[in-house]
Amino acid sequence: MKLPKYSLGMGDRFAQEGVFQLEAIRRAAEAGVHVAPVWNKSHREHVITGTQPADVRAEADAAVRARVYREPYFVDADHVRLDTVEAFLAPSDFFTLDVADFIGAEAPEEDRRRLVERCERWAGRVPIPGFEEPLEVTRETMEAAASKYLRAVQEAGRLYRYIRDRKPENGFITEVSLDETGEPQTPAELLLILAAVAEEGIAADTIAPRFPGRFNKGVDYVGDVARFAREFEQDVAVVTYAAGEFGLPESLKLSVHSGSDKFSIYGPMRRALRKFEAGIHLKTAGTTWLEELIGLAEAGGDGLALAKEVYRKARDRFDEMCAPYAAVIDVDPGALPSAQKVDCMSGPEYAASLRHDPTNPAYNPHFRQLLHVGFKVAAEMGERYLDVLRRHSDVVGRDVTENLYERHIRPLFLED
Ligand SMILES: [Zn+2]
Repeated sequence: MKLPKYSLGMGDRFAQEGVFQLEAIRRAAEAGVHVAPVWNKSHREHVITGTQPADVRAEADAAVRARVYREPYFVDADHVRLDTVEAFLAPSDFFTLDVADFIGAEAPEEDRRRLVERCERWAGRVPIPGFEEPLEVTRETMEAAASKYLRAVQEAGRLYRYIRDRKPENGFITEVSLDETGEPQTPAELLLILAAVAEEGIAADTIAPRFPGRFNKGVDYVGDVARFAREFEQDVAVVTYAAGEFGLPESLKLSVHSGSDKFSIYGPMRRALRKFEAGIHLKTAGTTWLEELIGLAEAGGDGLALAKEVYRKARDRFDEMCAPYAAVIDVDPGALPSAQKVDCMSGPEYAASLRHDPTNPAYNPHFRQLLHVGFKVAAEMGERYLDVLRRHSDVVGRDVTENLYERHIRPLFLED
């Protein structure tokens, strides 16, 4: 099983938008770029929405059948760990191994020493193709990286082998994810992490590092764009180099989590990918759920009333909604509109506050982020939410497709 060069991780909290997401992929192909769809949902999202991993498989298969889609597609067990992997084994063919909790835990001294010895030949200045200056890797960098990351890679190895022993030979895609941690990894650390991944025997197809800057849910990148651009390009070079050097799968590529809505960095990313002819996996999970609310607001009537109710309840339960996502959102309660104000909004006003159009003065990133994490409210409405959603699927579906294609696929893969 091989992951195509470009792939897009898509989330669909309520399993209603698969065909509309696939329509964005079809439009991309029509415009000349093949992007493989990957439907992902994490254990945490399953718990909140009351679904099972098998439901995501059912939705993906149904969407693909309905659209007579004949290219590869995948179902991703997102941020899976040993204690949550079981229910994902059968329905998933893409596993995002989340080992961020083990960053900083020390591997046995002997293992660390062995890794540093194996990497000794890269000590000094590594001439990585595409780097103006060789990458500086001292013995101290190696020892520090082994201390900080080896244990996490070993855990990824355990999880990888657990899955491999239970899936058909070559039957799944492997992603190693280190993104849910406070400190970004430098390109030199990434090189050593990949050396450890190869040593551990993990046939990694993608690696998701923590990049510099903030990747908040549903809003643009926050940070130094020039620094991100520089390090991202270096990371692409390191990954390309490591694949050949360490015998990792040739198609190894970077994965960018919380990758939706990062408009200010898609340009630099696109240029780096072109320069190295490299691939990318972009996870855009939560953005589709927000398009559902936008579509419902635009539909007016019961759709708008429901969108307002979701906001009112999410605002009332602010702490509860935000707590699980505290590390990946920045919501200023003072910048949120009052429930009364939202109740008086027209459909187009609600949609304009929520839709991610930075040029529109009505757009409110705080409103957007709170609703992003507020899907639990809609999940609790159950059939009542789904009924209204299905009634307005034409408006909602159009928004879902347009958002993925116009605001994500086009700027990242097609523009210039
Ligand atoms: Zn992640």
